[in-house]
Amino acid sequence: MPWNPSLPMLALLVLLISGTVKLLTVALGWLAWRTRAAERLRVYRREWAQGQLRSEAWAAAGVVLTDAVLITGLRYYTGPLLAPFRLSTALGTYAWMFVGFEVWFYVTHRLLHLPRFYRFHAQHHVAQVTEPLTALSFSVVERLVLTGGGLGLHFAALHLMPGTQVGILAYMVTNYALNALGHGNTEWLPRRFVTSWVGRVFFTPTFHAMHHARYQGHYGLFTVVLDRWLGTAFEDYPRVHARARDAEGLTRMGERLPGALAPAPVPVASAVPGVSGTR
Ligand SMILES: [Zn+2]
Ligand SMILES: [Zn+2]
Repeated sequence: MPWNPSLPMLALLVLLISGTVKLLTVALGWLAWRTRAAERLRVYRREWAQGQLRSEAWAAAGVVLTDAVLITGLRYYTGPLLAPFRLSTALGTYAWMFVGFEVWFYVTHRLLHLPRFYRFHAQHHVAQVTEPLTALSFSVVERLVLTGGGLGLHFAALHLMPGTQVGILAYMVTNYALNALGHGNTEWLPRRFVTSWVGRVFFTPTFHAMHHARYQGHYGLFTVVLDRWLGTAFEDYPRVHARARDAEGLTRMGERLPGALAPAPVPVASAVPGVSGTR
């Protein structure tokens, strides 16, 4: 039976649930980040900027509040949305949210890098070297754009097509988890991933770490497809990835690794001197 709480009760619930999911995923990201294995696999072997964590913590508080206001607003005006659960519908909703948000993120992110809009995105780039908390570091304006887009897709899924809440919730959890992982500055995926067909579709932590280090390029969220199609992918991405995997993460922010395409998968031993020789 649909449940219709009062507005303050609804707002409080949304704040609690959405805030907890956000903080939990960042906390889990930190636990992974602190391990010894993670320390070996850093993409950039550099310190954070002074005051970075403090700045990001304030921004995260703003993000939690902004999201709570937007989600409460949507839920209040549309009323309870309960669609019957079917696995095929849930998968379809998930795919819709995933693909839709990839496009929304790429387009708005690229626009936010234009000089006239960059001030709204600057908060996210307080981190040149990222850590999991960077996943929640956005200005209120940028967050309105991002969450607004996500809720627009959410609304369309439930009102214009046979969507389910389960598909949307599953996507949200994926989104938070991959965001915390993607900002960990730690490369967990093996060398061969980047050149495999999966790696030609999906991102890695290295992919996004390079966006924070270099600004102009790698605008995509969890996929690399739009960057590849639109010419905004960095050519040395496979090499930077390989360096992180070899426990030889980059030490200079502007460092590029020119040379041939991807590191040869076999024999690995002969590829190593070439890669480290470009330091
Ligand atoms: Zn980022
Ligand atoms: Zn950016």
